Amino acid sequence: MTDPTNLVRRDQAHAWHPYTGTAAPDPVFPVRRASGTLIELADGRFLIDGMASWWCAIHGYNHPVLNRAIEDQLGRMAHVMFGGLTHAPAVELIEHLVALTPSPLQRVFLCDSGSVSVEVAIKMAIQYWRARGRPEKHRLLAVRNGYHGDTLGAMSVCDPVTGMHGLFRGILPQQVFAPAPTARFGEPASGSDIAALAAVLDQHHRELAALILEPIVQGAGGMRFYAADYLRQARELCDRHGVLLIADEIATGFGRTGRLFACEHAGIAPDIMTLGKALTGGYLTLAATLATAEVAQVISEGEPGVLMHGPTFMGNPLACAVANASIALLLGQDWAAEVRRIERGLAHGLAPCRELPGVVDVRVLGAIGVVELAHPVVLGRIQPRFVDRGVWVRPFGRLVYLMPPYVITDEQLATLCSALVTVVRDEVAGGRDVSNPT
Ligand SMILES: *Cc1c(COP(=O)(O)O)cnc(C)c1O
Repeated sequence: MTDPTNLVRRDQAHAWHPYTGTAAPDPVFPVRRASGTLIELADGRFLIDGMASWWCAIHGYNHPVLNRAIEDQLGRMAHVMFGGLTHAPAVELIEHLVALTPSPLQRVFLCDSGSVSVEVAIKMAIQYWRARGRPEKHRLLAVRNGYHGDTLGAMSVCDPVTGMHGLFRGILPQQVFAPAPTARFGEPASGSDIAALAAVLDQHHRELAALILEPIVQGAGGMRFYAADYLRQARELCDRHGVLLIADEIATGFGRTGRLFACEHAGIAPDIMTLGKALTGGYLTLAATLATAEVAQVISEGEPGVLMHGPTFMGNPLACAVANASIALLLGQDWAAEVRRIERGLAHGLAPCRELPGVVDVRVLGAIGVVELAHPVVLGRIQPRFVDRGVWVRPFGRLVYLMPPYVITDEQLATLCSALVTVVRDEVAGGRDVSNPT
């Protein structure tokens, strides 16, 4: 068996992990296997998973149904090109996505990752206006605190500060930004939020192709839950100003917020929607960009009559097969009741954080629980503390949050929450472990 210490040494010699450098990288923990809601480390310790591997693993790890879907498909073919060929796993997935998403969305473009699906959405919006003889409508309007991915086009619509636009000045396309909505989920939209969005649209609509936003939950840009009414009014403002609406549901899709897609909270349909993350139940990388029949038709009937995109691994059959199985597994159970159960468990379990001095907010929506601190955490210090308590939680900035697999038990959820409360209490006490003041 691989020696875990040696594995970390070999990793540190050549691997480059996300959002870190190579000189003094954050610690990494070698994993032997993962099953259900448990991640087993190479040293034999088990961690309860609080992250669903960045929103993806909604059914937990090593699921027999998902495993079988891949094994069955593997016996037929792992991959064929999607240019000029098609296959049942892709067609079935496309039909599922059309049936499940808001009804105007009728065309599905499959691609390899969330960021790529955002690039495709941006290109669709730009090509749409070109085809309509309005090439000057090529800029994007985005909302501050947003996150849409790490490729250059996607980065250009991320929050300029947390997305480090300064680092890429002169390289990223210059987009237009509206302030982040301030009204919280469950509240009516704030008049000043709407006025600010309307003012930006008034000023820039002649050069705007689309407004891109994450419906209801701003994820990696701040884990904020905003008023459904804002989304509803944003849809109306886009219609009034002749600007397309792109809903990035990569993080929110497939039930995470308590509705299958977060747009449903506002009862709206976007012109273009991006999906990813939980699409394959966390098994393989796959994403999709959906468009209305109108968007697809305008692009296809205008010059040059084609959508200029085509990833090599487009429609990968293994990924589509496991996506179909994951969707069937989700819809085959009362997933909404499971998400409500998790919502209750998070609300109850994280409530003690409200009393802590360094905590500025505790919020829960669906299977997402967030504890916002006054000051950023030191990842290299806090991460091992979670591991020591038998849970996998990975905070960023001032945010310590949970989004567990939907299969987590009440007992595991309670353990996860109480570990979080303890670690946060120690963290805000100044990094000392107050339970062990030596
Ligand atoms: C994660 C995420 C992306 C990027 O997806 P990748 O698969 O990491 O490229 C885009 N938009 C949102 C809202 C996301 O949460």
